[in-house]
Amino acid sequence: MHSQAEATFAPDIHHGQPEGSASRTKKDRKRNTSPSAYSKPCHLCRVPSDVLVRCQIDSSLQWQFVCTKKCWKDVSGGVVDGDAAHPFYKYGGMWKNKHAGVSAKKPKVKKTGK
Ligand SMILES: [Zn+2]
Repeated sequence: MHSQAEATFAPDIHHGQPEGSASRTKKDRKRNTSPSAYSKPCHLCRVPSDVLVRCQIDSSLQWQFVCTKKCWKDVSGGVVDGDAAHPFYKYGGMWKNKHAGVSAKKPKVKKTGK
């Protein structure tokens, strides 16, 4: 009779297991396949981006990834090869999140024939 008592007790223990842990693992795995999981954080503002500029930004001559928005302009002066005000800046190429299908092409600046 002992074994029978254990058999009826076992399902109760199983039922008491937290089901949340298993479903959460599944969710995390799903999230990792989304493009945002492959984006890199900007070295300066820490905001993950799908397109970053790889460049040296200071005397440490470390290659950093900075976002193409405000931060890149801060470190480069808005000039791809840097300007006199940013002697440590060195352009090292673009980094693109291949999973996001984004383009790193710069928008063409149209000259208004003034
Ligand atoms: Zn940034």
